[in-house]
Amino acid sequence: MFNQQLNNNVSNTSPTKNIEPVIIPEKRHPISTNEIDIEALKVLYRLRDAGFSGYLVGGGVRDLYMGKRPKDFDISTDARPGQIRKLFRNSRTIGRRFRLVQVFFRGGKIIEVSTLRSQSEYDINGTDKLLASNNTFGTPAEDAFRRDLTINALFYEIESKTIIDYVGGVKDLDQGLIRIIGEPERRVTRDPVRMMRAIRHAARNDFRIEENTWKAITRNFDKLELCPRSRIRDEVLKDLTSGSSEPWARITLESGLFFTLFPFYREVIYQHVDSGRRSELLSLLSVVDRLYNTPEGDVRIDFPDYFILATLLVPLVEDHFDISSQRLKGPTHYRLSRKIRAVLDDVLGERYNLKRMAKEAMTTLLVNLSTFEQFSRKKNLPKWLRNKSYFPDCYRFYRVVSEARGGPQVDEDLFRIHRQGGRQDHIRRDGKGYKKNSSKGRKGVRPAFADKNKSVFGLRGR
Ligand code: ATP
Ligand code: MG
Repeated sequence: MFNQQLNNNVSNTSPTKNIEPVIIPEKRHPISTNEIDIEALKVLYRLRDAGFSGYLVGGGVRDLYMGKRPKDFDISTDARPGQIRKLFRNSRTIGRRFRLVQVFFRGGKIIEVSTLRSQSEYDINGTDKLLASNNTFGTPAEDAFRRDLTINALFYEIESKTIIDYVGGVKDLDQGLIRIIGEPERRVTRDPVRMMRAIRHAARNDFRIEENTWKAITRNFDKLELCPRSRIRDEVLKDLTSGSSEPWARITLESGLFFTLFPFYREVIYQHVDSGRRSELLSLLSVVDRLYNTPEGDVRIDFPDYFILATLLVPLVEDHFDISSQRLKGPTHYRLSRKIRAVLDDVLGERYNLKRMAKEAMTTLLVNLSTFEQFSRKKNLPKWLRNKSYFPDCYRFYRVVSEARGGPQVDEDLFRIHRQGGRQDHIRRDGKGYKKNSSKGRKGVRPAFADKNKSVFGLRGR
């Protein structure tokens, strides 16, 4: 009821003028100032000392409320960008349409400080032009209502240690509900990525999607086609690497949105219902999630983009070519690799703007599933295979796939090597190229599908 009122309000012409927030005092919420990043606190105190308001906002408040460690601590204030810049010498202004200030701290930490806004950049028609500031600055209430989900629109105020809630976000957090602020239909039409954001937070937190939000998603998911492909690609990769990709896939499949992101899966999953491709896909993603959710240690677990996309494509490629049960040699191996490459071009090439090297890398991972399957049955991987430049990558890939098929758990440490010693073993995450490793002291390593100097992966056998 409370939310209904708020939602009606936001759709009126002057929606937020008279809205009184719910204020949750310190003793009635679980957030403690000790959990807030020290640098974020410094920023908040300096704003306060200069006579400005300052709030912790967005995902940071949501995560702290749920007892999670936030990825970032964003701050909103009534200070204008120029005033913020003056307060923080080590800062810069960014943003094409809305300017916000990044404050830099030691160790590369960045705290983003934005002036309270009246509108979301995605709710405004027009070009990329910087918007006249007097049109866009707003009150805390307006800033809350321009946000995407109720749980993402909470403010935390350090002086009084209160949570300020204009949209019913605390209640939704308590009930485990994902609700788009305002009229979901209109908000997702303005920015279709909000559908992905709703599903993301439902998947990450095991929350339910509120009925009207769900209806808006199931009616409008095809509007994602209208968004820039680069934005969708980034959002998809965020979900695939979130540690909750399996629940994410379940919800996107159930809503139908999955098939807007990956139209080629419609046939594989629906027309061949009995083939188990859907559960194969979900099992693969569970392994990826398990790996992402292992404690980080000194080196973060990470996969390059092409690796994660290749994982996503295993059921498709198996459906087309039955690779794991093939016995490939010489020319048949090569021919199948070209067929897989053609499929990748077809299904992902333009849509995900994959670079040639990334597609080659994915092809190699996929086609070599057959090689690894063949040899691992004999429990003995031959030396020539171990010496291949692509061996470590293909081995990791094979182990992920085999765990998904009920095989032994793959060791997380295999996925920690990418950035050891600051070295990047793989094609960069954006797929734009790759760094070659020095091959000093690594004799006997033969590159795959490559010219004399370049290996496909920039990876050498160990
Ligand atoms: P994460 O933990 O992934 O960082 P987040 O909610 O903090 O989650 P961000 O992309 O960092 O996500 O966005 C910060 C905040 O900006 C969100 O919490 C939300 O309030 C707002 N926001 C982000 N995208 C949109 C959007 N498309 N429309 C409206 N508000 C948005
Ligand atoms: Mg964030």
